Amino acid sequence: MKVAVFNTKSYDRTFLTAANVGGQHELVFFEPHLTLETSVLAAGFPAVCAFVNDCLDAKTLGAIAEKGVRLLALRSAGFNHVDLAAAKDLDLTLLRVPAYSPYSVAEHAVAMILSLNRKIHRAYNRVREGNFALDGLLGFDLHGKTVGIVGTGKIGAITAQILHGFGCRLLGYDVFQNPDCLALGMEYVALPELFATSDIVSLHCPLIPETYHLIGAEAIEQMKPGMMLINTSRGQLIDTKAVTKGLKSGIIGYLGLDVYEQETDLFFEDLSNQVIQDDVFQRLLTFPNVLITGHQAFFTEEALKNIAETTIANITDFEQGRPCPNQIDFAQVKK
Ligand code: NAD
Repeated sequence: MKVAVFNTKSYDRTFLTAANVGGQHELVFFEPHLTLETSVLAAGFPAVCAFVNDCLDAKTLGAIAEKGVRLLALRSAGFNHVDLAAAKDLDLTLLRVPAYSPYSVAEHAVAMILSLNRKIHRAYNRVREGNFALDGLLGFDLHGKTVGIVGTGKIGAITAQILHGFGCRLLGYDVFQNPDCLALGMEYVALPELFATSDIVSLHCPLIPETYHLIGAEAIEQMKPGMMLINTSRGQLIDTKAVTKGLKSGIIGYLGLDVYEQETDLFFEDLSNQVIQDDVFQRLLTFPNVLITGHQAFFTEEALKNIAETTIANITDFEQGRPCPNQIDFAQVKK
């Protein structure tokens, strides 16, 4: 099948080419993001492959459908950036990679917890400058601390498993209780109790209307002073301005973000020679107790291999008219 693969970096090309065994599909790699303007590149392709920061709004979907695209293969688990109503109306088939390596994201969340707690990001710079003083680097034992996991699906459950190994007490909040988490001794509680009791809160739920700005002024008021907030899920789960206030007041004692509300204009690109215009983001960078990574939690060899192999298998299923387990069922999705 002829596939227009948008928004590709060298690592995407490497892993997708390796997964496309025997050149079964004709993959044409484009560097630009998919937008209304670049949709012209999709002309003559029955399939388009896109990533989390491509623009998949109604106009762009309409434009690619008009050019003959029938399949949209996402190289991501999340599909909150796709206008599902438009995709349904246009009769586009939407495939995704629901699970590639929950370990990659869970391990990154824990890396953020450990770095923030033990101030590894600051210690690294100090030692390079010959400053071996310990003032300001005081951490705490994770053993015995209470961690609240919001969203106990695949990634939340692995995060819980790792933190269980550290001897943490586990609280959970989800619309379903995960038996694997219950087996670890996780106690499911309502959100206000989770916020009031947790030393660390880690977000692992999807971005849906119910979870938009889940962490805002009201939630922050309920939190334990000095708590640590980790978000490796989706930026819009957090009201960044409210969190900035929480950092200034000290309620939020540590903040680890791999995702950010307005990340589309920043992440995945080298902007080191440009002036960043986003003042809310720049303010976050001034706090010593904030650690930000640019949506890299998924970025492990295992995850990239899995994403590429599943994407190729999804495209093959579509081409051969087989039912694909990774197809998004528009009837089931609440938007
Ligand atoms: P999953 O579907 O296995 O788990 C999500 C869990 O959230 C489910 O248990 C679901 O019941 C729960 N949930 C649904 N609505 C909720 C609500 N209103 N409140 C609380 N919980 C709710 O998904 P997953 O594979 O564990 O991924 C979790 C999230 O991680 C994804 O939605 C995605 O946004 C994010 N993610 C980030 C990266 C990254 O690189 N930073 C990579 C992959 C996934």
